[in-house]
Parts: sequence; structure tokens; C-alpha cells
Amino acid sequence: MLEDLVVYRAKAVRTMDPGRPLAGAVAVMEGRIVSVGTVEAMAPWLDRFPHRFDDRFRDQVIFPGFIDPHTHFRMSGVFMSLTYVGPIPSPGPHGVNPGLATRAAVLEKLRQADAEKTDPAEPIVAWGLDPAAQGGQFHRDELDGISTTRPIWTITYAPHVVVANTVMLERIGIDESTNVYGVERYPDGRLNGQFIEREATQLATRPVVGILNSKGRGVRGIRMLAATAQAAGVTTTAEMVFGYLDFDAELAEHRQAVLDPEFPIRMLLVPVDGALRARHGDGVAEAMKALEAEGGDKLSFHGVKFVNDGSYPAMTLRLRFPGYLDGHEGHRGQTPWDEMFEHMLPYWRAGVQIHSHANGDETVDMTLDVLERLQLAHPRFDHRFTIEHYCISTPDQARRLKALGGLASVNNYFVHYRSLLHAEQGFGPDRAEATARLASLEREGVVFALHSDFSLVLTPIHPLMAAWIAVRRIALDGETVVAPGERIGRERALRAITIDAAHVLGRDREIGSIEVGKRADFTILGEDPFTVDIDRLKDIAIWGTVLGGKVFPAHG
Ligand SMILES: [Zn+2]
Repeated sequence: MLEDLVVYRAKAVRTMDPGRPLAGAVAVMEGRIVSVGTVEAMAPWLDRFPHRFDDRFRDQVIFPGFIDPHTHFRMSGVFMSLTYVGPIPSPGPHGVNPGLATRAAVLEKLRQADAEKTDPAEPIVAWGLDPAAQGGQFHRDELDGISTTRPIWTITYAPHVVVANTVMLERIGIDESTNVYGVERYPDGRLNGQFIEREATQLATRPVVGILNSKGRGVRGIRMLAATAQAAGVTTTAEMVFGYLDFDAELAEHRQAVLDPEFPIRMLLVPVDGALRARHGDGVAEAMKALEAEGGDKLSFHGVKFVNDGSYPAMTLRLRFPGYLDGHEGHRGQTPWDEMFEHMLPYWRAGVQIHSHANGDETVDMTLDVLERLQLAHPRFDHRFTIEHYCISTPDQARRLKALGGLASVNNYFVHYRSLLHAEQGFGPDRAEATARLASLEREGVVFALHSDFSLVLTPIHPLMAAWIAVRRIALDGETVVAPGERIGRERALRAITIDAAHVLGRDREIGSIEVGKRADFTILGEDPFTVDIDRLKDIAIWGTVLGGKVFPAHG
């Protein structure tokens, strides 16, 4: 052994190893855990090897590093530098942008942006629309009211709907004869300026790709959002739409940002199927296996992502009967559902883990049907097929997911932040209340993780907040308990942000708990999440993190 052992003594070490849950110290060498227990019990190591004690966490609790298994740092960072029209305060390159609570405020902000630009051909490119909070989806005629000469391009905060004015429609290069899935129309057949979900938004994004990909924005975004995540205690995350805009550019940016020794987070890159297919055609699975094989311990490729319906906050997900309050249908993703099995099969056969986005219960049904066909075609165990988001589901689906051996990575922040809003907008009271049915998963024995989707869904990144929401299910009014039968216990919630999240990412051999041989990834907490009053769980001070033995104070 080359280095000295470093022994961190703490107020407590919570291991998330159920067999050895509590300790007083952890010994680290070369970025890995050598021993966890009491200093006395470590004597067989300490007697044999040079070591030193580090007591800076003496008054803190050492916890396994938090894992948020679904984020979008790069894309969010890029959006942050656009004109901001969202409903919540949001950081931008020139400080924090205020939230715009009304439709009128959004239109005023766009009018202002128009007045400030001197070049009459320069487009307005804006991000942050929240149709549920701002009076419904925006549309072409409204934006023509801002300008009939300057192109205007806007996108919802959850980037599933682009809205363009007439001049921008001309730049996109489409007219009334267009027949692309998700290009929407007024009742009289005229284009209404809305582009919903991947096929349509990709088309609509063509004229502004240069602005979104402009040099430096990606790396800056990854760094900025990683700092926010680290301050919340996150040590590992997965980029869940890697390659969405430009595979090579995004890879170069992630290498530059993540491999910097001062970057505090491990990052898994999960490419979208469409990006792999465009590069590798029928060789997608072999290509993905090769990418996975070359990964390092800080930055690596992992699995494949399918986006199969719309968004919860943008209200484009697909619902079972009786559908949306206003009768609209929601949208599928890029791949038509009747082609899904053929798209997934090569990955399934090759053992590439599939992460399949399904927000609405109709999409969960489709996903389970496809998983059943995959199992019939090529039976597998421990395949870790994961349904991403799993926002609106039913108990029968949890049972079926268990029977097919699948997992869930759930965005449950909506229970607190948006369930009351969507009882009245979009989904109606029943589905809004049943958002993120974690106890149903637990009752069936499905392993699940909690994620933030940061920063694309109007909620913060804060794993302890997610755990608190899972345990309490208190809505934004501070008193309504939303579907109390879906609350879970404290330990299960804490597993979902550590060891169970590692399982969902196929990394539980390496991270997720404090065990001998695993990487020394810790979140350093001011209080013990197992004993603190439950309503203080979300308020526990986060001192910082340790990544592979390197200490990152949250303030530094
Ligand atoms: Zn996502």
C-alpha cells in the first residue's frame, strides 16, 4: 500500500449497510474504504499500516454520498443563459432572475426583450414557460402580438413544448402543408406555433441550435449545476439525455468539466437511443457496450435512455381513461410505440441496461407490455430495466413491474411542489394525488430510487428534501397530506437516495453505502437523518462531501 491510511472519526457513521448500520470511524486509502467500525476494532489494520487521524468531522455525521440518478446539467446550463420566462426564481449568468407568475408578465418580458435588441433579425430565444401556472400553453398569434418581424422561439421549463411566432415558423421552414407528429394546429387547421415532444421540437430547434450550442455554455452549465448539486450533498449523478443535441460536443464538454480534479461529482452518461441510432444504425448495442467498457471511475457511459411520453409539469404525458381535464391527449416520444420492442431488443439482448421514461399511466402500461415481450423473446434476470419518473401509476402496475423484474427511478418532488396545482390543471384530483406511488412499489418489493430531473422540472435538487417528501407527502400549502397510503418509512426513503439509487445505476458494487472496498464517497451532515425530528430531515445542514477520499466543503 502506497499511501497512509486516513481515519475519519465522526459523531456517527451511518453506513446504509443493514448488517453493520452504525459506526464511529471510517478508514480510507487511495480513495477507497479499508475499514468501518470503531477505532479499536480497526486495530488489526492500524497496527500494521502507517495511518493518521482526521477529526474535522468529529461533530458531523458521515453518510454515504447521495446519488441522484437522473439529472440534466448540460442542457439546463444552456437554457439558463437564455431569456428567462419561468414562474420560479432561477439563477442566470447575470444573477437570479425573478419568477413570472402570470401570462401577462411573460408577454411583458418578451416585449422588453424585443425592445432591447438592436439587430432586427436577432431572434428572441426564451426558456421557462409553465403552462399550468401561467394560464395554458402559449401560441403563435400571441407571440405575433409581440413582433411580426423578429423571430421568437420559446420553450417550456420542462423542455417538451416549443412555441414559435410566424417569422420563426418561416425560419424553421414549415407551412400549413407540414405533417410531422407534434406540430400542432388551431381548430381551423392553421399552425398554432406549438411543437410538442422530440420529433417536433427537434425540427423547431434547428434555427437556434447554434445559439444553444455556442461555445463555453455547456461546460459552464455543467460546472454551475454540479456546484448546486454538491451543496445539496450529491456525489454521483447520471446525465439522462446524453447526445440529445450533439454527441461529440457534449462528450468533449463533459470530459473537460468532469475530469477536472476539482469537479466534485461522478457522472454517468446515458445516451438517448435516437442519438446512438443516428451514429451506429443497427450496431447500437455493440457501440454502447464498447463505450461502457472504456469508462473511468469518475466519468463513464452507462445504459441507454428512451423517452416515451411527455412531461409532468408541461402536461404532455399520456394518461389512461378518463384522460386530461380539458380533453387533450398528451404525446408519445420519438419512437412510435408499435416500434418500441424492435428498438429495445438489441440492447436487451446485449445486456445494456434500459432506462425508459414513462410519466403517465398509459405510458407505463405500454412500457410493461414491451418489457413482457422482451422477457418472452429473451428471458433475463437482474436486467435492471428501469422506468424513469413513474409519476402517475397504479397499484396494478407496481405489481406487474415486480413480476417482470423491473425497477423504478421516481421523481417524487412533484408530490410536494405541484400536486395541488395539477389537481386543477391537467390531471385532475385523483391522478394528482396519486403522484409518485412509492408505498405501492415498496409493498410489491420493487427497488426504487428518487431523482430530481434537475434542472428541467421546476423543482430543486435536494435528496434530503426528496426523502422528506417521500416520508411525509405534505403539499405546498404546508398541511395537505397527499395520498397518505403512499408514504414510506424513513429508512426506505434514505435507501432511495443512496444504495438503492446505486442499484438502479448498476453501481451498487462500487458506491451507495459505506462498506469495505467501496469508493470513499461521503455526504457530511450536521445531524443524523435517522434520529432527527422527521420534519427537520430536509433542513439538516450539509457540511460538504467527500469524493474518492477528496474532501469538498460545500462552501468552498
Ligand atoms: Zn429527464
